[in-house]
Amino acid sequence: MGESQVIRIMCPNLSCQRILAVPSHARGKLVRCRSCVTNIRIPMLRDPSLPRNLGPRGEPVVDAA
Ligand SMILES: [Zn+2]
Repeated sequence: MGESQVIRIMCPNLSCQRILAVPSHARGKLVRCRSCVTNIRIPMLRDPSLPRNLGPRGEPVVDAA
């Protein structure tokens, strides 16, 4: 099989902060936290040569550090 990479992202909900494991093909899409049902946008691949992306509605993409 091809990519089996998994991205780990922390839920931005401060009362949750669950670590979610999502497949790499979910980049740029929204996933729903199973714990608190918050929608989380999975960031695209980080490329230091590119400026920060903006979402489709112009809102800044939250970087889940
Ligand atoms: Zn959550």
